[in-house]
Amino acid sequence: MSDCLFCRIVAGEVPATVVHETPTTLAFRDIGPQAPTHVLVIPREHHDDVGALSDADPGLLASVMSAAVAVARQEQLSGGYRLLANTGDDAGQTVHHAHVHVMGGHRLAGLG
Ligand code: AMP
Ligand code: ZN
Repeated sequence: MSDCLFCRIVAGEVPATVVHETPTTLAFRDIGPQAPTHVLVIPREHHDDVGALSDADPGLLASVMSAAVAVARQEQLSGGYRLLANTGDDAGQTVHHAHVHVMGGHRLAGLG
């Protein structure tokens, strides 16, 4: 059994509310939503973060980003949305399996 939480979600060992799937990606609702819509999009394959994913398989990173856009459209975030990938300790990445946050549904605070 993997000790990676998101690999365990991919394997069906940890429950998640899945909202979008492709052969190479999975999207599910964040357990601690920071916006009315807050979904995480991940590659099914384990990569530690988007930097490692970009190095190993840039096409898969593109698939993750396209899936994130598909989620935003499916969730009808017509007013706009934010795609965010925390990468490494300075960004506060807590789950070390590459993921993109899709957030929207209200006016989001600026980033600084
Ligand atoms: P990050 O801080 O960018 O690494 O984001 C990790 C995200 O995973 C956080 O927003 C958490 O709320 C979310 N999260 C942690 N555990 C789960 C889970 N079991 N199901 C869904 N989302 C989770
Ligand atoms: Zn993993």
